[in-house]
Amino acid sequence: MPYSLPKLPYDNDALAPVISAETIDFHYGKHHQTYVTNLNGLLEGTGLHDMELSELITSGLERLQKEKRTPVFNNAAQVWNHTFYWNCMKKGGGGAPTGKLAEAITRAFGSFDKFRELFTKAAVGHFGSGWAWLAKDAGGNLEVFSTANAATPLAEKKTPLLTCDVWEHAYYIDYRNARAKYVEAWWNLVNWDFVSKNFG
Ligand code: FE
Repeated sequence: MPYSLPKLPYDNDALAPVISAETIDFHYGKHHQTYVTNLNGLLEGTGLHDMELSELITSGLERLQKEKRTPVFNNAAQVWNHTFYWNCMKKGGGGAPTGKLAEAITRAFGSFDKFRELFTKAAVGHFGSGWAWLAKDAGGNLEVFSTANAATPLAEKKTPLLTCDVWEHAYYIDYRNARAKYVEAWWNLVNWDFVSKNFG
């Protein structure tokens, strides 16, 4: 079975005005779909379609011919990262986390505000295309960092908790080149229930 584009967890206008329906139509409908289509094309005849996407990214690449590994990784990771990104947001999101996640963030970064500042810096300061992440390492420690292009914490055996897509295609329709404005507004969409669930 080829991979398919997962359904969005909300309508395409649900995140407006922070992220417009037009951005969703392009970002989800065109970019995310293209990664799925490319991935399926690359995997044709390999028999690897039956793997979970996360398994393909973390351990499936070695089963591919060498020259296919990088393009498969790039497209598979972009499919996974985008699905994760959509789930990190919801209509009426934002605010601050509660419970165990809030305690862990305060322990790791000093305060929620300090965490938000670090994450914002990682997102806005990242050079070129990429992603900002809150992730948990194998020892359970929380980390904030950015990754370039398709790179994903999954591949480093880390558990992603929250991400912000900082590729230009995420914001150029609504914010032009103003990435900082996009990231500032993006905080109002964060789905902390989803982040808490990832934290476990
Ligand atoms: Fe994107």
